[in-house]
Amino acid sequence: MNFSLTENQQMIAEMIRDFGEKHIRPKMMEWDKTQEFPVEVFKKLGELGLMGVLVPQEYGGAGLKYNEYVTVVSEVGKICGGIGLSVAAHNSLCTGHILQFGNEEQKKKYLPKLATAEWIGAWSLTEHGTGSDSGRMRTTAVKDDDNWVINGSKNFITHAISGDVAVVIVRTGQKGDSHGMSAFIIEKGTPGFSSGKKEDKLGMRASETAELIFDDCRVPAENLLGKEGEGFIQAMKVLDGGRISIASLALGIAKGALEAALKYSKEREQFGQPIANFQAIAFKLADMATEIEAAELLCFHAADLKDRHLPVTRQSAYAKYYASEVSVRAGTEAVQIFGGYGYTREFPAEKYYRDSKLCTIGEGTSEIQKMVIAKHILK
Ligand SMILES: Cc1cc2nc3c(=O)[nH]c(=O)nc-3n(C[C@H](O)[C@H](O)[C@H](O)COP(=O)(O)OP(=O)(O)OC[C@H]3O[C@@H](n4cnc5c(N)ncnc54)[C@H](O)[C@@H]3O)c2cc1C
Repeated sequence: MNFSLTENQQMIAEMIRDFGEKHIRPKMMEWDKTQEFPVEVFKKLGELGLMGVLVPQEYGGAGLKYNEYVTVVSEVGKICGGIGLSVAAHNSLCTGHILQFGNEEQKKKYLPKLATAEWIGAWSLTEHGTGSDSGRMRTTAVKDDDNWVINGSKNFITHAISGDVAVVIVRTGQKGDSHGMSAFIIEKGTPGFSSGKKEDKLGMRASETAELIFDDCRVPAENLLGKEGEGFIQAMKVLDGGRISIASLALGIAKGALEAALKYSKEREQFGQPIANFQAIAFKLADMATEIEAAELLCFHAADLKDRHLPVTRQSAYAKYYASEVSVRAGTEAVQIFGGYGYTREFPAEKYYRDSKLCTIGEGTSEIQKMVIAKHILK
């Protein structure tokens, strides 16, 4: 395993830093305050190939590998967690599901639009009553000649309002049967398909999170992804990759928090000297740096397995669990190092602190990651 970034990864990181300084940093606190989802930024990210990172070039994507994807998501997350979350959800979930399980016709129809961000993608598994236990979902699809009729709703869906297309996993069989669910592609504007309440969130506020509602929504049979009954199994495979992206996002947020805390601790003076001179502060920085290094290795290990098409469920759970908890600790310690200023919106620490918390929740909570890991090691 090579521990240093490739030339391509270094180039990508530099490109994102430049882009972020120009197009994200100047406005991100405004988006954070107003909860604006800045669609125009995603269109620009699409022009750079960052909305179809893993999509092969024949479908209009950048055709990159997972290790490069880790760099993309972590570098965006280092600047703004909310933009990073949307980049991760668009790439890994909606686009990733169609890329992994779509037929040729579906791939040709949707991937070029998604990879360039002409269309924004959403992916919906979670419902009001079923989050961690998503297999017990209530939203149903019933066959009617050449159509499926969908009724119910999905909750906490990234890009539920601004998304142009959604992959939706719904019940087509018995409750409790992991083969009783199927995945469909649904385009915005389909009668009976609408968005509902937008969440007012603690963090990740530039990323849009809302409900999706299905009211006798008729979807043509050709929009079924893979075979009937495979939806839940597909979703779990999509999440294996998705969790690497949330781990990368967490890594980026933690790195951002450390960078800000390092700078501040050298500038802020108390008792006649920079606070970095106090061992209590220096040791916090040392802990943050060590944990970030370990989180990064877990991300790249999972990415490497994914690139080599090897089983990755356990390693992506390790990466997601560890990196997200590290991110929360880094955000918390950054606020502490900034002292009272860390508690204000004028300084960057509080945003890292707020944004980081989503990483221990979305795409499977830390408790669920531990269940996945325990199941594997207790086999
Ligand atoms: C900003 C944001 C964006 C999101 N984007 C999407 C999206 O695009 N698409 C999508 O489908 N979903 C999305 N989600 C939903 C997210 O995946 C769920 O919130 C998450 O899976 C947890 O589900 P829940 O919120 O219902 O919590 P619950 O499942 O109700 O969990 C509550 C608590 O109980 C714990 N718990 C549950 N079961 C167990 C158990 N068996 N053992 C021990 N502890 C347990 C959990 O760990 C948690 O601490 C998003 C959520 C947020 C907040």
